[in-house]
Amino acid sequence: MTTSTFETIGKPPVDQFKVKPNLDPDNVGEFDWEQVYSELDWLPGGGLNKAHEAIDRHANGPRRDKIAMIWEGKNGEREDYTFGQMKELTDRFAGALQNLGIETGDRVFLFLDRIPELYIAFFGILKAGAVVGPLFSAFGPDPVRDRLEDSGAKILVTQPDLRRKVAEILSQLPALEHTIIINKNGRDESALEAGDLDYDAQMEAAPSDFSIVNTSQYDYSIMHYTSGTTGKPKGAVHRHQACVQQYATGKWALDLHEDDIYWCTADPGWVTGTSYGMMAPWTNGVTQLIYEGGFRASAWFEQIQKHKVTVWYTAPTAIRMLMKAGVAVPHRYDLSSLRFSASVGEPLNPEAVVWGEEAIGMPFHDNWWQTETGAIMCANYAAMPIKPGSMGRPIPGVELGIVDDDFNAVPAGEDGNLVVRPNWPGMFHAYWENSTMYNSRFKKGWYITGDRARVDEDGYFWFVGRADDVINTAGHLVGPFEVESALIEHPDVAEAGVIGKPDPIAMEIVKAFVSLNDGVEESTALRNDIMRFAREKLSTMVAPREIEFVPSLPKTRSGKIMRRLLKARELGLPEGDTSTLEDDD
Ligand code: ATP
Ligand code: MG
Repeated sequence: MTTSTFETIGKPPVDQFKVKPNLDPDNVGEFDWEQVYSELDWLPGGGLNKAHEAIDRHANGPRRDKIAMIWEGKNGEREDYTFGQMKELTDRFAGALQNLGIETGDRVFLFLDRIPELYIAFFGILKAGAVVGPLFSAFGPDPVRDRLEDSGAKILVTQPDLRRKVAEILSQLPALEHTIIINKNGRDESALEAGDLDYDAQMEAAPSDFSIVNTSQYDYSIMHYTSGTTGKPKGAVHRHQACVQQYATGKWALDLHEDDIYWCTADPGWVTGTSYGMMAPWTNGVTQLIYEGGFRASAWFEQIQKHKVTVWYTAPTAIRMLMKAGVAVPHRYDLSSLRFSASVGEPLNPEAVVWGEEAIGMPFHDNWWQTETGAIMCANYAAMPIKPGSMGRPIPGVELGIVDDDFNAVPAGEDGNLVVRPNWPGMFHAYWENSTMYNSRFKKGWYITGDRARVDEDGYFWFVGRADDVINTAGHLVGPFEVESALIEHPDVAEAGVIGKPDPIAMEIVKAFVSLNDGVEESTALRNDIMRFAREKLSTMVAPREIEFVPSLPKTRSGKIMRRLLKARELGLPEGDTSTLEDDD
């Protein structure tokens, strides 16, 4: 049983790949994480530090002059940084932090656009033994204050315009000792306010050489607040150890090879932008593109063409937006450099997987993980047939389970709670100062993901929905993803969000909010047609009973459909935490 109406996309014979895939999931054999741990470099004192594994080990070896980062700014500026240069700059920033009294375990937060200095500061913080907290630059004052207050951050690294945006909250944070301002290439005229520190001056004053603090693999390295899709964002804390899984999955799930030019479109304010926009490519010594500009279909394809991107990691919302722009756009560009593309963050509708073949010459490979898991847990690998709509198979060394509410395994093909056997290397180690919530996620020897899924006879996992979003209609449990995927197969539908609407007879009915493709007019006839289309694809039980047209769906700033908000609005209930809600466009 699958959600997909599409045929499995067969894998090409191995000799037809441009590059031989790193992982053949059918031939993993005896697996032991120790083997992967031994591929890391480790600190001379036996410690582990993410900055050493991502930067210094390459700077100290044959990749010293290899380009680590190709940066394209929003105004078309270009800057390249080798691993050697990254080492020098991150050493300096670590030294600057030490000059300011930063010690192991202190929190230093970043509130920056995607400029090279964000990446330099990130690894400088890790080298100093501190915990880095990246914030998404589109946040307004309240979400920034909440996160700085909750984490007790001592230093905020930001830029002039963003500092101005949150000016009012900076005096309300007793733990905050310094604000460091980066005025990238003098973009801003009035850079510093009273009391601010200038990044360039701090770098200048710092020693040119720095000895990385001897952190252990168990020391905290980063805290990321979750997306807030289901409620108030939680500060998930990770250890240096997570880099082993970020490194391994960069190889296995993103199939990174030495000569790749890799592009991850996620912002470093979210976990994908650090685990896969920094750690995975750089622990693998791979060159990556950082594009500061925002989303525009033509600009994105131009980036691939211009920088000859080979491996591309993006997200379902972006792919649906590209689909909305139409297949003619990618066809205007030479995308022949691309050899592998992947997606994460939300369920990837089968339609979108298959669209990849037509638009960019290959399907998108969906993979699943969470802020809490720190790294990819389940993936469609290059050397594996794709069943569109499935999130693939667990990575080596990770055990996923599907269990009922009493933690009994459910048979293949049946929906249940998606759980993980604890102590995978990337596992989060705390919700910041909220051990009650942390502990509540572990029961009967499992970590509870909060997602529902099923596994088929071939061991492929299929996402059903978030446990909170699952709809109970006349005794049937319906996952919104299945319904949304069917709806977006309709030629006029761009996006769909599905909720359970309380009903006196059926308990809940399936209600769909639908946004239409550009240029399509709303009409009753169209609504009826979509309704009929959905009934043909799905059983009448599962097909929506109500369809409402909306210009766009409420999403988190990381691009996830906020079904809880659709529901609260439908029922006239309080909206709850909306700190991560994207502005209307
Ligand atoms: P919060 O926990 O604050 O409600 P969030 O769960 O959206 O927010 P993230 O950690 O960014 O925060 O997202 C992880 C979740 O995203 C997963 O639990 C899952 O629901 C969804 N997700 C991620 N990748 C996939 C995928 N490939 N298929 C289906 N769902 C996915
Ligand atoms: Mg979550």
